Amino acid sequence: MLQVQTSAGFTAPRKPARNASQRREHPDVVGTRWHTGRKAIAKLSKRRGAPRIDLGAENVILSSLPRDDYKRLLPKLERVKLTRGDLVYRAHRKIEAVYFPEDAVVTMVDALNDQRTVEVGTIGREGMVGINIFLAGAASPDQAIVQLSGTAIRLSAQDFRHELTAGAALQRLLLAYARALLAVISQSVACSQHHTIQQRLARWLLTFRDYSGGGEFMMLQSSMAAMLGARREGITEAAHKLQTASLISYCRGRIRVLDGPGLGRRSCECYRFIARQYAALNLALKLP
Ligand SMILES: [Zn+2]
Repeated sequence: MLQVQTSAGFTAPRKPARNASQRREHPDVVGTRWHTGRKAIAKLSKRRGAPRIDLGAENVILSSLPRDDYKRLLPKLERVKLTRGDLVYRAHRKIEAVYFPEDAVVTMVDALNDQRTVEVGTIGREGMVGINIFLAGAASPDQAIVQLSGTAIRLSAQDFRHELTAGAALQRLLLAYARALLAVISQSVACSQHHTIQQRLARWLLTFRDYSGGGEFMMLQSSMAAMLGARREGITEAAHKLQTASLISYCRGRIRVLDGPGLGRRSCECYRFIARQYAALNLALKLP
């Protein structure tokens, strides 16, 4: 579902007339409006005694903002629904809005001239999509693709930049997040060079199990191959081995992790490294 932006704001979503299997994309904004900031304000007013504001879920950075910063930002926030396959950003295009995922998960994907792709980072409720704006960039160096459908909080790039000048708290939180993300991206480079497809697939499945709350999730083998920068045949073979060992079930794109500890033993060290980075980030974000 796409949206049309007008001077009055985001209008009702307009359903695109095209094949549902096609990737949804839009140069400016993406996502179906879910709630407005006003509903969140109503929620806030019921939590007046709380030292920090919990948005209701969900995104760790936003829920770690001090009350005054959050109240200032709230009218500008919009909760949107992101659907698997949505293209949030195209590479090297101007970023019009940043997204704070709640249960949606977005991957940053680098595409080479020969159409080969590889995932360079995965962003869920711990982070923000569009970190390049925070780093004084105007465009995204990579594509950003929704991997797990869910909600995210959207903030226009203009309002985001204004907030950075108005409040120090968001800057501090995003600095901590950028450090963690950089460490994870650096590790992913080593992972793609030195670890086997099966190790990397196990790490990736555990990561998405965590993002999906431990439940099953939808993922095509072609998507996994694109994310891991591997041939589809290699992913099929690795997934078959994991399934034969009763570590996962896989049926028509629906994946369930059956044995997390067992899958952890098949994974490379990168899963534990990433988990440690985000655990440390969680602690850092909660510091006053
Ligand atoms: Zn690895």
